[in-house]
Amino acid sequence: MTIHERADDAAVRLAAVRAAMAKAAALARRPAEAVTLIAVSKTHGAEAIRPLIDAGQRVFGENRVQEAEAKWPALREENADLALHLIGQLQSNKADAAVALFDAIHSVDRNSLVAALARAMDKQGRRPDCFVQVNIGAEDQKGGCALGDLPALLVEARAVDLPVRGLMCVPPADVEPAPYFALLAKIARDNGLSALSMGMSGDYETAIMIGATHVRVGTALFGGRG
Ligand SMILES: *Cc1c(COP(=O)(O)O)cnc(C)c1O
Repeated sequence: MTIHERADDAAVRLAAVRAAMAKAAALARRPAEAVTLIAVSKTHGAEAIRPLIDAGQRVFGENRVQEAEAKWPALREENADLALHLIGQLQSNKADAAVALFDAIHSVDRNSLVAALARAMDKQGRRPDCFVQVNIGAEDQKGGCALGDLPALLVEARAVDLPVRGLMCVPPADVEPAPYFALLAKIARDNGLSALSMGMSGDYETAIMIGATHVRVGTALFGGRG
């Protein structure tokens, strides 16, 4: 594939995803601007990311702090107005690095991490938006806080002034995601939170119809991760 084909490809994929997002929003009588597209660029290098930036995409997601630290400082030097979201599990000892690099953190899921992030934010005077990740399908292998632990975690987060904007989830694979999205939306409402990070390549339209404010889309924009 030539570099030009690659650029055309990225622009076409981005336009298709944006059109599908707008259609889903319209069906739900929501304004298209109510939903932020996070382009999940994990495992993809700068040469795959640049065509999307050139096509107008500004918000990107990464799941590992170290990988993001290696890729994004250079890309940000070329484009000052990019926003970077952390969507993967975060170890407390990487809280400082995460607060320094990211504009939003979607994987807050336990008290020790709340404390580490609050310390890092106080130290750096920088407060990225936070989402509490909920283990919505109660799956042993998945990250996220258990449903029953959420109220206490939110109390803890508010006590240390963590800017919690909303909730995030990854529903169980291979089953209909809509009931899980609806449950996350209800829990967010019950807790006075307005942002909902839910929906990936296979189900972002469903998520938007159920109220997603942030969709995290990788494969549909970049192709497979090999
Ligand atoms: C990789 C990843 C995505 C994007 O998944 P695709 O199916 O490639 O769109 C979204 N959210 C999280 C948490 C991820 O790890």
